[in-house]
Amino acid sequence: MTDHEIQARINNTFGPRPTSYLVTGGAGFIGSHLVDALLAQGHHVLAIDNLSTGRFENISGLIHHPRFHFAQANITDDIVMDRLASQADIIIHLAAAVGVKLIVENPVHTIETNVMGTEAVLKAALRYQTRVLIASTSEVYGKGSSVPFREEDDVVLGPTSRNRWGYAASKMVDEFLALAYGREKGLPVTIFRLFNTVGPRQTGRYGMVIPRFVQQALQGERLTVYGDGTQSRCFLHVQDAIQAIMKMANSDSEHVNHEVFNVGSTEEISIYQLAQRILGLVGQPEENIDLIAYEDAYAAGFEDMRQRVPDISKIQQATGWQPSRSLEQILHDVIESYCGQERDHRHH
Ligand code: UDP
Repeated sequence: MTDHEIQARINNTFGPRPTSYLVTGGAGFIGSHLVDALLAQGHHVLAIDNLSTGRFENISGLIHHPRFHFAQANITDDIVMDRLASQADIIIHLAAAVGVKLIVENPVHTIETNVMGTEAVLKAALRYQTRVLIASTSEVYGKGSSVPFREEDDVVLGPTSRNRWGYAASKMVDEFLALAYGREKGLPVTIFRLFNTVGPRQTGRYGMVIPRFVQQALQGERLTVYGDGTQSRCFLHVQDAIQAIMKMANSDSEHVNHEVFNVGSTEEISIYQLAQRILGLVGQPEENIDLIAYEDAYAAGFEDMRQRVPDISKIQQATGWQPSRSLEQILHDVIESYCGQERDHRHH
């Protein structure tokens, strides 16, 4: 029998060999949902997380799972990263400093984590020629030159005196570095720019608007809309983001290698309308909204994005992916997850 025939017989008997995924940031909001989905598909999953913003409770139920292995370590720990990369068929790099609040308050941590962390992941991947999918962010579009944002658009950032742009620049360096490893060293890399991804397990502690509004509304507090509330966003359900990542991971290399993809929803809403929707859904009066000046929410000189909408035709063409969950569903799932937590606390 040829090797091919042997492999075919093994596959017929046992099914195809499961893929071994390494997920950096595997205890985080998106990472832990990805880990769940990969395990459910029968894959082996190695996760690394330093539990800085990731939470052990996101993965605590998996610790005894036979196909799951968790390393609590920094991605800049060369020995741990090398060991994990050597066992992986594919790396999904999600570990990063995220959240506007965290980013403006901890600029050194943000830049160092994002730049040095991604460099460490790429170096480890290169040693074993392991394919890497790298999470980037819609922040790299900066102020946005024209809506909707396309992957090849020019980018306008604000000055270096504003911390927020340091985050955007750090993720741009990640993208440049990854594409350079791809072109110059032949490492298979794919970059995806996530747009305002939300869902259960996301915390409002680092600034994200939907978990903050939902918690405020459920506690009967007034919702804190920054600026005049006319700025708009498109929110993506985390399960749709997971589908996009898995589609990219399973796509033929000629469609996704050395490419950058937007991953987002195109259902746009202003932040003021978002606040009203959430108040309506939890049965609170719609005027329970405070407009808060940006200077009072963040440090003076903070700059917000007015409008952020992705063009998702590129990923659609390359992989067939498109989001399937509405904002309605997102809000429902987030509200339900907080209500579920409340019920759990009361039972204990
Ligand atoms: N925002 C708000 N109130 C909050 C938190 C955020 O009005 O308590 C606004 C924020 O200024 C931005 C939008 O909601 O215009 C989305 O903020 P988030 O930090 O979730 O994501 P961003 O798109 O800014 O990265």
